[in-house]
Amino acid sequence: MPYRYIGPADIAARAFPAGRPIRSRADFTAWYSGADHRDPLFTYVVTTDGVLRVAPRRSEHVACAAGADVLAAGEIGFDPSGRVVEVTNQSTGYCPDPSCWPAVAAALDAAGLPHPGGFTSTFVFGHCPVCGHLNLIKDDDYTCAVCGTALA
Ligand SMILES: [Zn+2]
Repeated sequence: MPYRYIGPADIAARAFPAGRPIRSRADFTAWYSGADHRDPLFTYVVTTDGVLRVAPRRSEHVACAAGADVLAAGEIGFDPSGRVVEVTNQSTGYCPDPSCWPAVAAALDAAGLPHPGGFTSTFVFGHCPVCGHLNLIKDDDYTCAVCGTALA
């Protein structure tokens, strides 16, 4: 099921370049050799056409996806051979459920990039219905970090 961007509209409206599509090992090599590796993690999305798109970590996921709905989103890190060493569903713009992993795996398989077979870290998101805070749920603590409202 595609995820729609739910973050702040001012971020969505900014004209960042879209993420780089990685459809093959050759795409990966061409992108990775020119990427900035001071931060080992990158922003990624899987767009509804099943393609992995990557961008510098400072990029918003919605920019990486060019404003489109996504099948998955988060952060990803590679070794120089193209093996995925870290991959998460951490995207406060799309709040993808950890169950979106098969879309990530399919996009990586299509590009010929080995992966760990699941997220290396997973996040669950919960919008507080009272104060609006977007909570990152850890350790099954389903209470709002700001106002203490029960989230589930
Ligand atoms: Zn709250």
